[in-house]
Amino acid sequence: MRKGICYLVLKTVNIYLDIDGVLITKKGKPANGLFEFLEYVTGNYTCYWLTTHCRDGTPERAVEYVNKIGGIDKELLEKIKPCKPWATFKTEAIDFSEPFIWLDDNLFEGERRALNERGMLQNMEYFDLVHDPNQLVKIMAEMKRKS
Ligand SMILES: [Mg+2]
Repeated sequence: MRKGICYLVLKTVNIYLDIDGVLITKKGKPANGLFEFLEYVTGNYTCYWLTTHCRDGTPERAVEYVNKIGGIDKELLEKIKPCKPWATFKTEAIDFSEPFIWLDDNLFEGERRALNERGMLQNMEYFDLVHDPNQLVKIMAEMKRKS
């Protein structure tokens, strides 16, 4: 059973956000609760894009990609910072010296190893919106409860 990310939520925490399969479903629809989630996390945490749409460390493509689903305040998306450029594994872009949560629907073996050798496997929240369409809503509720 997963411990839940809630116990990791400290006063200041970085949130690394994947897009496909986390913010947007595989069918191209906004995940349930997306608008409220973006408003909440960008208002309370430092957020970073951690997605192939921002692999080179420039945020514009990620912003445009999410913005095109419509109905989102673009200013919220522009609050999300670009992560460091990464080549093979997303964990290259994570600052392990600061508390963080990483939301993603995919975890490569090299990434699992990078987290595990630091004892930080629980900092990654594995998303499966097909199995649980309300996962984003639940995460936000957990974060609000613990903040
Ligand atoms: Mg993804």
